[in-house]
Amino acid sequence: MNRMRMFLIAMSGLFLTIGMITVFLFQTQLKEKETDIPTFYQDVVEIENPASFRALVNKNYRLPADYEPSDLVLLDVPLYNKDKNNEANYLRKEAARALKNLFEAAYNEKGYELIARSGYRSYDTQVMLYDRYVKEDGVEAADTYSARPGHSEHQTGLTIDITSDSVHGGLTETFGETDEGKWVAENAHRFGFIIRYPENRVDETGYQYEPWHLRYVGTEAATSIYNDQLILEDYVLNVMKQMSVLWD
Ligand SMILES: [Zn+2]
Repeated sequence: MNRMRMFLIAMSGLFLTIGMITVFLFQTQLKEKETDIPTFYQDVVEIENPASFRALVNKNYRLPADYEPSDLVLLDVPLYNKDKNNEANYLRKEAARALKNLFEAAYNEKGYELIARSGYRSYDTQVMLYDRYVKEDGVEAADTYSARPGHSEHQTGLTIDITSDSVHGGLTETFGETDEGKWVAENAHRFGFIIRYPENRVDETGYQYEPWHLRYVGTEAATSIYNDQLILEDYVLNVMKQMSVLWD
């Protein structure tokens, strides 16, 4: 009887220990998961592949200050600001061609008319914009809606803000609720574009939902990102890393 009691005590002690270890490990895992999201603008890496279609530019990866794409071309789609000297009306050649195909498909398949509003933005323009926002609102507020110089995807020449008459040419969240916006979200990948800042990943991208901000990454990457509901960070830092082609 005494032995039986001893055995039971030993067993419950063992189970208690296993239970505690499990809880401890689970908590550690949770903590590790929380720290997955980097602190924005800390330990910033200057990227080595600025001309890659899959270049990762965000609040922790920046473009070299002197990076200027060599193949910018004037967009051949309806423009919000029709000034041909405005750099915002330019994109890299392949992205410009893909955008034309996207806009034509929207019109041919659905009768939707899309408008290009803001494409390429040089480092110097971003310096000017960011400085102005900081003067007006302070660094903390400016960081929530404007990228620091070198950290704007628009400097890649692969990014375009688009809109439509149904939102009066605005860059607004309601674009995502329009027929045009919904069609773009479901079809952009066919032409190599992704919605770069989706609604459900704000903490990781560091940007509010921007249904108007499209990034060209090529059809293969865009389709994978669309099908698996990824963000570019997932694709470059996980998928591409596994394929060992991080800096292609
Ligand atoms: Zn944008």
